[in-house]
Amino acid sequence: MQEINRERRTIAAVATAVAPGQGGIAVIRLSGPDSQRAVRAITSFPGEQVWESHRVLYGHVMAADGLERLDEVLVLLMQAPRSYTAEDVTEIHCHGGVMAVQRVMARVLEQPGIRRALPGEFSQRAVLNGRLDLTRAEAIGDLVSARSQRAAQLAMAGVDGGIQRRIKALRECLLDQLSELEARVDFEDDLPALDGQALLRALQSVRDELLQLVADGERGAVLRQGLRVALVGRPNVGKSSLLNRLSRRERAIVTDRPGTTRDLLESEIVLEGVPITLLDTAGIRSTDDAVEQLGIARSHDALASADLVVLLFDLSEGWTAEDQALRERIPADVPYLLVGNKADLSDAVAPADVHLSAVTGAGEEQLVEALLERCGAVTDGSLLLSLNQRQADLARVAAAALDRSEQVAADGLPWDFWTIDLREAIHSLGEITGEELTESVLDRIFSRFCIGK
Ligand code: GDP
Repeated sequence: MQEINRERRTIAAVATAVAPGQGGIAVIRLSGPDSQRAVRAITSFPGEQVWESHRVLYGHVMAADGLERLDEVLVLLMQAPRSYTAEDVTEIHCHGGVMAVQRVMARVLEQPGIRRALPGEFSQRAVLNGRLDLTRAEAIGDLVSARSQRAAQLAMAGVDGGIQRRIKALRECLLDQLSELEARVDFEDDLPALDGQALLRALQSVRDELLQLVADGERGAVLRQGLRVALVGRPNVGKSSLLNRLSRRERAIVTDRPGTTRDLLESEIVLEGVPITLLDTAGIRSTDDAVEQLGIARSHDALASADLVVLLFDLSEGWTAEDQALRERIPADVPYLLVGNKADLSDAVAPADVHLSAVTGAGEEQLVEALLERCGAVTDGSLLLSLNQRQADLARVAAAALDRSEQVAADGLPWDFWTIDLREAIHSLGEITGEELTESVLDRIFSRFCIGK
């Protein structure tokens, strides 16, 4: 890693979620050389205390007057390098909620040499101190913000170091090729001739693996961020009934976010571990009413922003001109599913992707499957690694550089032309793993973390 200007000051933050009336305990974490001294200065412990690493002490945090007890706490000491950041870390486990934590935190921040931690700063220090791989740190962020089982599973693969190992191995393969090339550039005459075709094949296989990882990452993004599915259909075709039915599948996670009166209704549900935001575009209909018009404009936005449109129609009435008009409003680049509802009322065979009865539930499984499949969220379990956006962008840059080497080969250019692209690919992969990083890149990555991480 490049030399990055490291600040050694001790930082402090509340490491647990803070909400009124929530959480029995909270953890305040300090990291840096002054952490233990600061905690000692504000605490009082009964009897004899042994301040040694990985030991828990019981006592109280005292007010500045030294008399008032602010909270009853446990203090945990972790001396460098055996801590999350590889620095001296001291944790104060105090009572949860908001007030107790804030009072203790305020005392901590009064101590000389202590400042409030920036978002992600603990993890950033862990990476800078070589305690944590960059991709693992990012995966921890993903794990904490995972909104579904599948997203959490995916993040865990990153936490376990899968991404780090894969990218590192590819980078090392490129480094080997680079040293071969460089040797030829310097000592062409003294060494056996280099097999250009074999070299090219090696580079291409690295490129192919990178592109595969990028593609997996795109599928993973669906699992992480979820899908936006717009539900459209004429009045009374059964949109609300379907919404209710889907919502009941895992009802604990349903949240309704009604907009203005005739506006969109968004519900978030989880289907087979994939978070799905359902946009009920009730307003799509021709009308002169200005308020209704506004609703319609938003519905159109919703259609354009959706990953998938579900167009519901009534099988008992067949496919109507109005249904056709709705279908024509779906933007060309948004995939859609035609779902014929009220199958229980009609045996007519209409051309629909799914035949459904929102009342009896017949066809529901097919609908869910089709939904997930249309959005590329169906996996056969092979999706074990998923690059995040930053990592995928860099992998693409590396793959493109390797692509260029093919052109260089085709043009029969000398070896030192090959090394230019190769170096670029190696650099990009190093930015993924953290082996080649600049301070600004690090700041950008970690500023997306929450405070206390
Ligand atoms: P929306 O206006 O599209 O939201 O339609 P609703 O969900 O309010 O449904 C309109 C009417 O159709 C209600 O009386 C529902 O009970 C009924 N309905 C919805 N789905 C079905 C279905 O699959 N079969 C039958 N028989 N009736 C349905």
